[in-house]
Amino acid sequence: MYLKSIEVHGFKSFANKITFQFKNGITGIVGPNGSGKSNVADAVRWVLGEQSAKSLRGANMQDVIFSGTQMRKSLGFAYVAITLDNSDHKLPIEYEEVTVSRRVYRSGESEYMINGTNCRLRDVQELFMDTGIGKEGYSIIGQGQIDKILSGKPEERRELFDEAAGIVKFKKRKALAERDLEAERLNLSRVSDIISEIE
Ligand code: ATP
Repeated sequence: MYLKSIEVHGFKSFANKITFQFKNGITGIVGPNGSGKSNVADAVRWVLGEQSAKSLRGANMQDVIFSGTQMRKSLGFAYVAITLDNSDHKLPIEYEEVTVSRRVYRSGESEYMINGTNCRLRDVQELFMDTGIGKEGYSIIGQGQIDKILSGKPEERRELFDEAAGIVKFKKRKALAERDLEAERLNLSRVSDIISEIE
């Protein structure tokens, strides 16, 4: 599996629709300070479901929308799509190529798509779980993140190892099952109360 392309339109400094094409191997993005290099990595984190404006270096989520310059009017939406080669089927989906996109409007309305079909944020998160690609994955290491990992709490470091070991989805499912069990336990105890009242 590898990243084939990133399409951005209206995201941060990218007012025009542009597509970055990547071949197998290493690609470097170079440019002067403030030219938008980190915005490319932010775009990938954002499309993967980043919900924190702070980690996208903004004050609120609408800050990802192109805010205009002296020469150019602001835009009303931000759009990012990434396309991955999935011929090795590392992503649990039958397609050989997977495109995930996210769009947000100034009104706050937003949508995610997987291969052109609307989906929930949770579907995007589940698709990338245990692949190391998700927004919490280790495939995107931001500036200052190495320090954060080294000086972080043992539990936080453990999360990275869990992701690499491929057990995050089992832990998440276990937590959901435990929550359902707890709800059933409460229901059962309510039923026994009612039965004892009737008897
Ligand atoms: P450095 O080398 O200093 O780390 P960089 O090339 O990584 O810089 P970025 O931090 O990616 O640059 O981009 C910063 C630029 O993006 C700034 O010029 C900023 O004005 C612009 N920018 C960020 N958000 C928006 C937005 N919503 N609308 C328009 N421009 C934006």
